[in-house]
Amino acid sequence: MDCPDDIAGALLTIDLSALVANYRRLAARVAPADLAAVVKADAYGLGAAEIVPALVSAGCRHFFVAHLGEALAICNHVPRGSALYVLNGLVAGAEATCAGADIVPVLNSLGQAHRWRDLALRRGRPLPAVVQVDSGMSRLGLSAADAATLAADLDFRARVPLRAVMSHLACADEPGRPANARQHAQFAELAALFPGAPRSLANSGGCLLGAAFRGQIARAGIALYGSDPAEDLAEPFRPVVRLDARVIQLRTVPAGTGVGYGLDWIAPVERRLATLAIGYADGLPRSLMGRGAAWFGGVRLPIVGRVSMDSMTVDVSDLAPGALSEGDLVEIIGANQRVDDLAAAAGTISYEILTSLGARFGRTYVPATCSRPVLEAIA
Ligand SMILES: *Cc1c(COP(=O)(O)O)cnc(C)c1O
Repeated sequence: MDCPDDIAGALLTIDLSALVANYRRLAARVAPADLAAVVKADAYGLGAAEIVPALVSAGCRHFFVAHLGEALAICNHVPRGSALYVLNGLVAGAEATCAGADIVPVLNSLGQAHRWRDLALRRGRPLPAVVQVDSGMSRLGLSAADAATLAADLDFRARVPLRAVMSHLACADEPGRPANARQHAQFAELAALFPGAPRSLANSGGCLLGAAFRGQIARAGIALYGSDPAEDLAEPFRPVVRLDARVIQLRTVPAGTGVGYGLDWIAPVERRLATLAIGYADGLPRSLMGRGAAWFGGVRLPIVGRVSMDSMTVDVSDLAPGALSEGDLVEIIGANQRVDDLAAAAGTISYEILTSLGARFGRTYVPATCSRPVLEAIA
């Protein structure tokens, strides 16, 4: 579905070496814990088929997706000896499919745990799983009472080796929130019901909260993809995504001219405008109207009028006349405007921007720098 670069309306460039650098940085931060990669939603929209092999090359051995279907789609990229986990749990009836593909379900309820245990009993072989407990987010996972019931289930303990006991933080992006310490304490209490199981609590933000939060497996998503999991980091994570949109028309309009659907923006004085081949069908939020911008040559080009489905218009009057031509590319995400900046302008979060990135882009993957094979080739 991706478009060849020379005819695409916009180009998405995904820097796998930046991805690998972000992975290595966070892995060093959480060591000796393992760093798992969260690659749900097609690796946050960046393409799991490319992202997973790059992370494997960086040493990642644990991968989390949300749905069993996502796991089945990428299990060929996950090498033997690595683990692939499904966060959203075990859909009734999917037990055999999950077990047949060696995918590890995250068991979120007693019912799910019992169905997995029963399959292990029927097959006469152990079936590994992760147990999730609710430590305070009230989204997924066993309650304290259900966790105690499961921990006392001797068949479950004998038949279901636990790859981890996990929980998820509601406020990891806000280090000052007391909820983090409360969740940590509740998690420690519930995890103790499953002695010997590795513990997994931290997402990207949690990795930065302190050693106590890291457990034996940390689960990072957004930081790997180049967005900062908390504000005011001394060193930002390396940008992974660059997005450039093509200029498809230029015009000069006199004062009083309306622009776009509803004619919501009226040129106050004569203005030079550029229409770009990118719109909300490509994942650019309509809320960017009047707040967002594109960039060219270090100059900010404010979005004027409503964002359309397939195009939007920017004011290019601050550029020298003739600086921009039809067919040129302007920056939507890049050196001047990080994904976090675009998200802030749209009143949303980087996760939503990344996972909305459209299917019509030309896509280029910059390979992870891999110097050794090149040197061997020369020698
Ligand atoms: C999505 C998700 C993560 C990754 O979170 P980031 O903030 O992107 O690092 C980790 N754990 C669970 C349970 C998740 O749903």
